Amino acid sequence: MSKTPKSHGRLTARPTLQPREVITDTPALVGSWVAQIITLFPQAFPGVLGESLTGKALQDGLWRLETYNLRDYGIGKHRNVDDTPAGGGAGMVLRADVLENAITDARRAAKGAMPLVYLSPRGRRFDQAMARDWARHDGVTLLCGRFEGVDERVLTHFGIQEVSLGDFVLTGGEIAAQAMIDASVRLLPGVLGNAESAVEESFATGLLEHPQYTKPAEWQGHAIPEVLLSGNHAKIAEWRKAQAEQITKARRPDLWEIYKSKET
Ligand code: SAH
Repeated sequence: MSKTPKSHGRLTARPTLQPREVITDTPALVGSWVAQIITLFPQAFPGVLGESLTGKALQDGLWRLETYNLRDYGIGKHRNVDDTPAGGGAGMVLRADVLENAITDARRAAKGAMPLVYLSPRGRRFDQAMARDWARHDGVTLLCGRFEGVDERVLTHFGIQEVSLGDFVLTGGEIAAQAMIDASVRLLPGVLGNAESAVEESFATGLLEHPQYTKPAEWQGHAIPEVLLSGNHAKIAEWRKAQAEQITKARRPDLWEIYKSKET
C-alpha cells in the first residue's frame, strides 16, 4: 500500500533574475536536504519550522519536508493504528504492521544516505554533533511515536536508531522532531544569513557562547562592558573567549573537562 506523502516547501521553480545555483550554495529541489516525518499529526508540520530562517530556507528549496500520515496506513474501516500492549498495562502501542508500511514507503522515497530515527526518551541524547552529522547527510527519516510508543520489533527489524530530545517524557515525537530538524537545517549551507554565526555559537567551539549586548549603551543603570565599545577587535575576541571559558567552567563542568583536555 503506497500513499502519496504530503510535501511542503517550494515545489515549482519561481522566475528569478539569476540562475538559482548562483544565488544559493545548494541547487533548489534537486538534491535538497529532506526531512521525512512519519506521524499521526502531519498537520503539526512545518509548525515553527515554517517561520523565520528555517521557513525561508523551506520556501527557497534549501530543504524539503515530507510527512507520512500514519492514519493513511491504518487498518480497517476505522484505520486503526494502535492496540493494547501485549502482557497488559496502561495505554496503547503503535502496531508493527502499520508502521512497517509507512516506513517502507518513506524509505523507498529516500534518496542517498538518510539516517532512520525513532524519537524516544530511551534514545541517545540529541546534541550539536548529531545535528552536524544529519546536516551532512541527504536528510533524515523521523518516526514520531504516540501513546506508549511503538512495537519493539519494528525497531530491531528496520535497525532504527533511537534518539531522545532530553531526559523528560513528551506526549509525542513531533516536538522533538521539530527541534532536531531546526538544529540540523540551520547548519545547511545558505540557511543562516551570516555564515559566521554558526562558527562562534555555543557548542561549535566546545564552549558555551559569551554574553551578547546591544543598544541602548546604558539601560536601567547597567552599562555594556567597555571593551565591546572600544573598537579593538583583538581585545574584544580575547574578552569573549575568557567569558566563554568562565561560563562553561561554571555551568558545564562536563564540557569544560573535554575542552581542556583538547587544548593541552
Ligand atoms: N512509554 C514511553 C514514552 C512514550 S511517550 C517510555 O516510557 O519510554 C510517547 C512518544 O513521545 C514516544 O513514542 C516518543 O516518540 C515521544 N517522546 C517522548 N519523550 C521523548 C523524548 N524525550 N525525546 C524524543 N521523543 C520523545
